[in-house]
Amino acid sequence: MNSPAISYSIVIPTIGRPCLDRCLGALAAARGPVPEQVIIVDDRPGRPATPLRWPPSPLAVRVVATGGAGPAAARNAGWRATASPWVAFLDDDVVVEPDWRQRLAADLAQQPDRIGGVQGRITVPPPRGRQPTDAERATMGLAGARWITADMAYRRAALVAAGGFDERFPRAFREDSDLALRVLRDGWLLRQGSRRTVHPLRAGSPWLSVRAQAGNADDALMRRLHGRGWQAQAGAAPGRRPRHLLITAAAVAAAGLSAAGASTRSHGRPGTRWGARLAWAVALAGTAELTAARIAAGPQQPREIATMLVTSLVIPEAATWHWLRGSWRARQAPPWPPPPQAVLFDRDGTLIHDVPYNGDPAQVRLMPTARTAVKLARARGMRVGLITNQSGVARGLLTPADVDAVNARVAELLGPFDVIQVCPHGPADTCSCRKPAPGLVTWAAAALGLSTHDCAVIGDTGADLQAAQAAGARALLVPTAATLGPERSGAWTAADVLTATAMLAGILPLPSVWPARAGQRSEPASPPQRIAVTPARTS
Ligand SMILES: [Mg+2]
Ligand SMILES: [Zn+2]
Repeated sequence: MNSPAISYSIVIPTIGRPCLDRCLGALAAARGPVPEQVIIVDDRPGRPATPLRWPPSPLAVRVVATGGAGPAAARNAGWRATASPWVAFLDDDVVVEPDWRQRLAADLAQQPDRIGGVQGRITVPPPRGRQPTDAERATMGLAGARWITADMAYRRAALVAAGGFDERFPRAFREDSDLALRVLRDGWLLRQGSRRTVHPLRAGSPWLSVRAQAGNADDALMRRLHGRGWQAQAGAAPGRRPRHLLITAAAVAAAGLSAAGASTRSHGRPGTRWGARLAWAVALAGTAELTAARIAAGPQQPREIATMLVTSLVIPEAATWHWLRGSWRARQAPPWPPPPQAVLFDRDGTLIHDVPYNGDPAQVRLMPTARTAVKLARARGMRVGLITNQSGVARGLLTPADVDAVNARVAELLGPFDVIQVCPHGPADTCSCRKPAPGLVTWAAAALGLSTHDCAVIGDTGADLQAAQAAGARALLVPTAATLGPERSGAWTAADVLTATAMLAGILPLPSVWPARAGQRSEPASPPQRIAVTPARTS
């Protein structure tokens, strides 16, 4: 198999587990195009005394430390440290197959622009000669899970537009489904690739399934963010939560009614007594069924049976507690990502009418909604900046003083800007600031003391969008008659600057970057496959 040329980076978050060695070893040994960079995100909490270590690798491995921020934040730090058009996420406990790099390249090469992500195929070898334990079943559920970041490649443009992973998901659960749903909502398509990755079985603590109930809180956040239908969209099994809630409600009612009965002198009224008996019966029957199902699925060894008997007593209550806690916490959760902290406006054709190589302040005329847009951005607490290519300087048609005079006039009409960045070079200068290069965006963000990922660009050309994207800033296109058709694809587009600003501020919804055309919505995100069995719910 020939490997197509493809530029990609790999991001592997880790909390320092020894399995990282094997993961990196398999990656280095695989055939196929070499990744531009392998970013290991060291998410060990605090400031670990010892650096991460692994056997020497021929790959360009770099470490980014996140100090225990959680997998979502770790992956964000990882992909933001890369520059390649594709980013492949791996878990530190997977082992890629020998042809993984070759197949990854094939998976990513020649994908239409609209494909935002390509998933790998995860296999989990089952235990030999016996049924899997509860903890093993938890791992085996990964084999069918959709879009899991154990092996998932995203187009950088899709990550930038989505604002990366939602960092409010604190554990390695649902944050990958959440990102996938947002990428799909932006109009990208997700595909299943051909590369294979093995996720070995791991032994877990006997309490794994009890602790995994914390995932119910993440489900509550998913429901808040994506609505009732999120489970079907994400291919997540509905699981046992309804039954867990029923068992817990029955147990609470039984305890309450029994207490009420005991407090009345004549052993309570018959209604209360029968109510209590019924509630106990429901709670016990539900718990018995849960226990039996978990034992039946396992290897039926004494130790495993004992674990199932004990943990099944508390799983429904734990699930209910985390669901209630999560629902309360998520009740007003705003969408991800938060509004940008700064808006960087292009000048010509965006804030003011484009007069080619204009050095005359008298010729400055504002675009229709520019004044309100800048005002709105300021009112929403966003800093405002101006980033503009002025090749007229390099061409000898303008002096830097002319450019400054025009900028001063713009600031006179719109109020002062928090930052102004000008590229005076021409196309032949191959500078790093002339848009589509990222320099103006990077410098403006630095001057404001912000990360580029907290900035957004509003402009009227593809160069504005590319500059933003290369820097990692979100971008909105406000097309004019001069904007070319192809510049609009893959971009959030707004009718005017005010609408664009309102979208960034979260006042108006963002449109799809790839608007659905008639009959095009139906391409499945990935071929039909085994539905994700969410371990936390099935056990
Ligand atoms: Mg422009
Ligand atoms: Zn320049």
